[in-house]
Amino acid sequence: MDEVQIKVEKAHPNDFGRGIIRLDPSTLLSLQLSPGDIVEITGKRKTCAKVWRADRQDWGQGIIRIDGFIRQNAGVSIGERVTVKKAEFETAAHLILAPPEGVVMEYGDHIREIIKRNILKRPFVVGDVIPIISSMTQPMASQPTGGQAIPLIAVEAEPHDSVLIVTEITDIELRQKPVRGYESAARGITYDDIGGLGDEIQRVREMIELPLKHPELFQRLNIEPPKGIILYGPPGTGKTLIAKAVANESKANFLYIAGPEIMGKYYGESEERIRKIFEEAEEDAPSIVFIDEIDSIAPKRQNVTGEVERRVVAQLLTMMDGLEERGQVVVIGATNRLDAIDPALRRPGRFDREIEIGVPDAEGRLEILQIHTRGVPLGSDADEKYLEDIAKNTQAFVGADLLALVQEAAMRALRRVLPDLNLEDDLIPQEKLEQIMLTRSDFENALRE
Ligand code: ADP
Repeated sequence: MDEVQIKVEKAHPNDFGRGIIRLDPSTLLSLQLSPGDIVEITGKRKTCAKVWRADRQDWGQGIIRIDGFIRQNAGVSIGERVTVKKAEFETAAHLILAPPEGVVMEYGDHIREIIKRNILKRPFVVGDVIPIISSMTQPMASQPTGGQAIPLIAVEAEPHDSVLIVTEITDIELRQKPVRGYESAARGITYDDIGGLGDEIQRVREMIELPLKHPELFQRLNIEPPKGIILYGPPGTGKTLIAKAVANESKANFLYIAGPEIMGKYYGESEERIRKIFEEAEEDAPSIVFIDEIDSIAPKRQNVTGEVERRVVAQLLTMMDGLEERGQVVVIGATNRLDAIDPALRRPGRFDREIEIGVPDAEGRLEILQIHTRGVPLGSDADEKYLEDIAKNTQAFVGADLLALVQEAAMRALRRVLPDLNLEDDLIPQEKLEQIMLTRSDFENALRE
């Protein structure tokens, strides 16, 4: 066989940004591929990636795994199909990289080296987003970019039309001027940034992404896509993260309302603000309006029934009732407790679907740890096996706790090397930077906090 059509699934956290595609042995065999080969991946666009063998549990499932960057480069979403075939490739003689609009790059002296080392042997085609993943990239982009990756665009290369790989001889030119049309690459958060929650993401995608992307399906079948969805569960479990990811992956606008903050306004201001946000959402549809801590806006009436709440809830309901039926604006409300919100909000045509976002299990915790240690330099004693141990021993930790743990360990690593650094220097020398790593004891001390 020359090519296969196959379903796309999300990449494992460890594969993020590495430009690889995981194929199972039967697909490898039928395409006469070996690990390390380069393949062309075609969805709405054509891109390429390096072949790796799939994990055993994926064998025979009829899927490939690629990360959000490759999905974007191929113009596909999770669950859609791509064509995969062996690629002929050439060495890139020249490559011009530029940031997407929304990311401002500061290319310092050693940045070119870091970038080159980062993307050495990576296959690409002109027009691809190439992520640069390194703890060293943090200071060079002025925007906090999601998932510790700086996306750069391969705007031009020599030769132009081939599948290319970067080698030592590739002359890399870095441009400051941002490229248009890649804003979603700059916006960051994708499903790859969410650990665990596979089933929950699946449901959110069906309820939100599908109607946003293909309203015609729902029209044809005469089903009404939901206008409002409640995500409920303990704080720090990823409710906001999922909402941002679904907005990003459906190319919808993301409008954020902080419940408690909107309630603190002067008379009439809260309603006005809600009205404005909904108008903006409709104007720029498709949009997702995310209302964090919705229970503070619309508490169950028996709890508190202030005048302000009554007016704000009335305004919210008016705006939601006025939304067109075609599902191009979706409202996601987040709360810690489902039973804390006004039942009037949960009637049909309003927030009539709900998804629980629970505390992660050990497997979910490991994925979350892998996500938050991407691009973080780990010492040899803080390997994959050790992360598994942490995952097993952190019952009741939610995503936000695991993020805090990694950050605390990083602070401890920093404090450890601080006495050796000369802070008077303008720039800490590269070789000193490279010695900074998170060790097992940094994690252990952080856990003891
Ligand atoms: P919630 O909205 O449920 O209170 P957030 O989505 O704001 O929680 O989570 C806070 C932060 O914790 C996120 O930005 C992310 O860094 C981390 N986090 C939480 N849950 C997860 C998860 N499932 N996977 C990866 N990171 C997570």
